Amino acid sequence: MLTQSLGWERIATGDLLRAARREGTALGEKARAYMDAGNLVPDELIVEMVREHLAGLSPSVGIIFDGFPRTLPQAESLDRVLPGVGRQVDAVLLLEAEEDVLVKRISGRRVCQESGRVYNVYFDPPRVPGRCDESGAELVHRADDQEDTVRHRLKVYEELTEPLVAYYESGAAPILRVDGAAGMEAVKETIRGVLTSTLGLES
Ligand code: AMP
Repeated sequence: MLTQSLGWERIATGDLLRAARREGTALGEKARAYMDAGNLVPDELIVEMVREHLAGLSPSVGIIFDGFPRTLPQAESLDRVLPGVGRQVDAVLLLEAEEDVLVKRISGRRVCQESGRVYNVYFDPPRVPGRCDESGAELVHRADDQEDTVRHRLKVYEELTEPLVAYYESGAAPILRVDGAAGMEAVKETIRGVLTSTLGLES
């Protein structure tokens, strides 16, 4: 929603890894077991993948990184790589929500691999259970979205990703806190508002 309304590009490391798995690349094969267990894929693989995607983007277009960086070494690598392509981290969005909300959001997620549409059985179910409204294809419950794995992923987040809050708070880039428990439209509008005022974009 944000890339559409801002005209920016998105680099979502989870999506790139899932595409690599579907295509059966060496990266996809290396990443598979880590992902299915809800663990992080090693930093070197992620950083190299992001570097390749960055190189293909026009320097004038804004980028939203989604699901990246997820560890301190990834954030430090990003800070080393960006100046080489004439960029810097302008702001970091921190979406906050209670653990119970996060578990329902993630474990309730169902994805259509044909249309790319994402549903949630609790908050945004399809008209026919298990089928995509647009393509009619069967919806997929990702292996790493099973409830036990989601709880493990939240522990991994606390251990490896949460330290990034202190990293950015110590001056690397402004950190913008957003109430992620609100509805989708409200979260989008809040993010647009904070980005517009922090980065001086046209509203
Ligand atoms: P996501 O779609 O962002 O939830 O990512 C799904 C899975 O891909 C994660 O649980 C990790 O196994 C892997 N992954 C995605 N992004 C990263 C990253 N920046 N660093 C390490 N692993 C990642």
